[in-house]
Amino acid sequence: MIIVFRPDATPQQIDHVAEKVREWGLKTNISRGAERTLIGVIGDEAKVRAKPLEVFPGVEAVMPVLKPYRLVSAEARSERTRITLPGPPGATPVVIGGPRVVVIAGPCSIESREMLMEVGRIARDGGAQILRAGAFKPRTSPYAFQGHGVRGLKYLAEARLELCMPVVTEVMDTRDAELVGEAADMLQIGARNMQNFTLLKAVGRLRKPVLLKRGLSSTLEELLMCAEYLMSAGCHDVLLCERGIRTFEPMTRNTLDLSAIPVLKRESHLPVLADPSHGTGHWDLVGPMARAAVAAGADGITLEIHPRPEEAFSDGPQALLPKTYRELVKSMAAVAAAVGRSL
Ligand code: PEP
Ligand code: MN
Repeated sequence: MIIVFRPDATPQQIDHVAEKVREWGLKTNISRGAERTLIGVIGDEAKVRAKPLEVFPGVEAVMPVLKPYRLVSAEARSERTRITLPGPPGATPVVIGGPRVVVIAGPCSIESREMLMEVGRIARDGGAQILRAGAFKPRTSPYAFQGHGVRGLKYLAEARLELCMPVVTEVMDTRDAELVGEAADMLQIGARNMQNFTLLKAVGRLRKPVLLKRGLSSTLEELLMCAEYLMSAGCHDVLLCERGIRTFEPMTRNTLDLSAIPVLKRESHLPVLADPSHGTGHWDLVGPMARAAVAAGADGITLEIHPRPEEAFSDGPQALLPKTYRELVKSMAAVAAAVGRSL
């Protein structure tokens, strides 16, 4: 950390700050220039990160040198993290973060047992390795379908066995975390709960893989810090998911931030996913953005599909019809091959 003093800072003010830093157990390196004085803080930066150094008279700026996300940072590991979902007995294990781009597909909501089996089969046969489906739904309106909850989880656990593939579903409440962890191979923390720190800690403690979605108006640093919450609670298998952010543009539901993909891959060793369904909100925009996300280096793509979007309980406008979905997966495979990966 570097502490920068104002040009008019007095020697007493500078000495006072240096003494404080030493009191906190760190060493100082004072550099007195013609215009300004700097103090380089040597030692564990985390010890002073929480101290309000800016309040000391004479201090102009405090600049951290290290990233605040330690476990998540690319510097923390020499290799990229690969997450393996073994799935139910007899399933082919799915590796996320390796050379193969993973497809996660399914309905927005679990509408009924039959519907989940039907859509799950479409997802699997069209090329998805992981089934997604929501039992607990975070809806903007309290009058909208809230999900079948525990009953939905039961259907999902059945679909997992019947379709012989790993499943991911959202957890919204700490009280449901264990139950969701028992039903699913991976827990999803949705955009609206990205910064629900109590939930992050509770889910992290389960030590199951977590798909963490970027908050609606969150910076990438905030997303990385939320992944840090999960990792510091004991979860090592975190997937970062770009799902679009709020901007001034109303023609799309959200603005899918494609540059988030290479930024997150530069900053962190964790796998990065893209969700072009929530990222655009319109089924006809999902394909182009899914292909673009594969080209940008995404380790996986999550897609919402529905055989009858006009009857969907949630997110019908962004659902892909089965045929469109199957064609999209084929075209994503071509893009993956063009960037040296497979699908
Ligand atoms: C979802 O994936 O079902 C979902 C609600 O997504 P998000 O949290 O990104 O809105
Ligand atoms: Mn949805």
